[in-house]
Amino acid sequence: STQIQLINRPVGWPTQDDFRTVAVDLPDLAPDQVRVVNEYTSVDPYMRGRMNEGESYIPPFALGETMTGGAIGRVVESTAATHPVGSVVMHELGWRDVAQGDASAFRVVEEIPGVPISAYLGILGLTGLTAYVGLMHIAHLKPGDSVFVSGAAGAVGTAAGQIARLEGASRVIGSAGSAEKVALLTEKYGYAAAFDYKQAPVREQLASIAGEGIDVYFDNVGGDHLEAALDVLRPGGRAAICGAISMYNATDRTPGPDNMGNIIVRSLTLQGFTLGNYTHLFPEFVAKMGPWLASGEVVHDETIVDGIENSVDAFLQLMRGANVGKMLVRVS
Ligand code: NDP
Repeated sequence: STQIQLINRPVGWPTQDDFRTVAVDLPDLAPDQVRVVNEYTSVDPYMRGRMNEGESYIPPFALGETMTGGAIGRVVESTAATHPVGSVVMHELGWRDVAQGDASAFRVVEEIPGVPISAYLGILGLTGLTAYVGLMHIAHLKPGDSVFVSGAAGAVGTAAGQIARLEGASRVIGSAGSAEKVALLTEKYGYAAAFDYKQAPVREQLASIAGEGIDVYFDNVGGDHLEAALDVLRPGGRAAICGAISMYNATDRTPGPDNMGNIIVRSLTLQGFTLGNYTHLFPEFVAKMGPWLASGEVVHDETIVDGIENSVDAFLQLMRGANVGKMLVRVS
């Protein structure tokens, strides 16, 4: 098995030298185990936090050991009756082309006609669920709400904008880091308006685009975006604090909101969440997203990097914004 390991804890932006690629011999299967050929593996922003020392809400990656992360593949060998050869399985043994272990760590999923299995790592998986939980169960989106989503052209962001619209938002606006992405937001993803945060201060652009203000903010970025959202949140507004990617590779103190007082005077609710506490909502989510995908009411993009040996490059491209929608590694 070809596997990618972390060998140094990066300071600031990770580099290729912080990783190594190794060939690992896999032992014969013990009872109730499977061997899986991965088809797609996921790279995600949260992985940057796990490269640091010290426990956050999940423990750090161990130095000198193979990285882990979301993956989907097919069982090629099995000693578990529950996981026959040929089954499609979702699991956490990414960053490698062949995964092996106890069957209980591999969840068998159904192949949905017309939907590629890679969707289980994005729009139909934890990414889509993150958008759904943040909007519906953290920010308590109501029909008629006006919504702002940052990081809007990414995996969570493209899902959040569409779910907000389908759940009755009156207006959804988004921000992203290039003119091409901004065009996609309004032309493909149904955003009413969008802006490029690199072109002018977020505060100025959001204030001019937000009109009468917003009721819900879905935060993927933190920093200047959160500050700008606090300016325009209307009384009673709610924010789901989902991510703060503008801070993940920062070595200096990052700019933060200077208007936290608005939380008090406008009775705003900002609630953070980690998806791990909400995975019980997966059936509720799939019951909605499955039909939305099948009918074309929800669309999604994947940005694909070929070859497990290019996993680090895929991760770095993700952090730089080279992706639209979900960034994935296609293993073979
Ligand atoms: P994305 O597909 O959104 O990829 C990351 C994107 O972040 C890039 O495409 C880039 O787009 C943007 N970005 C990078 N740097 C900056 C910056 N300085 N300012 C603004 N945007 C930037 O990743 P995901 O959809 O997987 O994740 C989105 C967010 O959700 C992340 O913050 C992640 O940590 C969080 N998350 C939280 C979860 C939870 O349980 N709370 C679960 C899953 C994700 P651009 O070109 O627009 O800059």
